[in-house]
Amino acid sequence: MSALILIELNGSEVNASSRAAITAASKLSDSIDALVLTNDSSNSESVSKLAGINSVKMIVDDSLENVNVEVASKLIADVMSGYKYLVSGSSTYSKNILPRVGALLDVQPISDVCEIKSNNTFVRPLYAGNIMATVESSDETIIMTVRATAFEHSGDGGSAEVEVLSITIPESNSTFISLQESQSERPELTTAARIVSGGRGLGSKENFTLIEQLADKLDAAVGASRAAVDAGFISNDYQVGQTGKVVAPQLYLAVGISGAIQHLAGMKDSQVIVVINNDPDAPMSRMADLVWQTDLFGALKELNEYQV
Ligand SMILES: Cc1cc2nc3c(=O)[nH]c(=O)nc-3n(C[C@H](O)[C@H](O)[C@H](O)COP(=O)(O)OP(=O)(O)OC[C@H]3O[C@@H](n4cnc5c(N)ncnc54)[C@H](O)[C@@H]3O)c2cc1C
Repeated sequence: MSALILIELNGSEVNASSRAAITAASKLSDSIDALVLTNDSSNSESVSKLAGINSVKMIVDDSLENVNVEVASKLIADVMSGYKYLVSGSSTYSKNILPRVGALLDVQPISDVCEIKSNNTFVRPLYAGNIMATVESSDETIIMTVRATAFEHSGDGGSAEVEVLSITIPESNSTFISLQESQSERPELTTAARIVSGGRGLGSKENFTLIEQLADKLDAAVGASRAAVDAGFISNDYQVGQTGKVVAPQLYLAVGISGAIQHLAGMKDSQVIVVINNDPDAPMSRMADLVWQTDLFGALKELNEYQV
């Protein structure tokens, strides 16, 4: 009943959602291996240090510098024989790859697992998180993504053996052309301890910089509602919600966001929710720990000028 974790790297570091996947897998199996697809064998260093990992399987090839999902899914499907579980953090990376692995192995992937009830029964959200469904898998091999906000992030302290797999890289019909990544000095949205998030109430891209200023002051990540993204105030990398990022910071400050269910689906697990909104009936206010019912521009000016 061994488990394989598909590791996602940020540069050479193991990302938070892969660390959550290790914790989730530890509830399913005592024997957990990590799989890394990379062009750089020195990446084994950060993976082998992970606590709770027995061994690290690496597939190293220049073509894996930028992962081609068709190639990645075939490689993973090949490695899966002998494993009962394939577990990965819920991210764009895994959501792109795991359904293809599921198709190749003819099994049903289970996405966004928030709780593990038994070795084949899991809790996952439905209808934008309004329903938590308990699902039971009857597949021989179980493939799942887990929410990074629902499991502790496994730390370092291990010393797993590293094995470089000798495996032929399959042909693919698609070719990698380029990667455009947004660069930011701010904390990463999905793992930030504090998030300042802005909505349509900001009114313009220029005004949205007030959110960025406050985020910098609080050493927080910037988030946004889909309405703010659609209006062009900020790029969609920052969208929180059902079709954006799922976050669970210690502090979520929602400014000019009404609190549509699709937005709440992405941030309702935040520990402390503070709302700035001039509408006392905004749904966002109903789930807030603290509501500042006021004009957001006055509030942001005051907060941005506040000297600690
Ligand atoms: C399939 C689907 C998926 C979706 N996915 C997402 C998603 O992932 N994330 C997401 O956010 N949305 C998502 N949406 C959109 C969602 O339904 C809402 O339309 C959106 O969240 C609204 O954004 P908002 O709260 O910024 O805007 P609005 O609903 O327009 O709210 C603006 C708020 O600002 C307040 N305000 C205005 N001016 C001021 C002021 N001067 N001072 C103080 N307060 C002020 C208003 O009172 C209001 O509460 C999705 C919708 C669909 C159909």
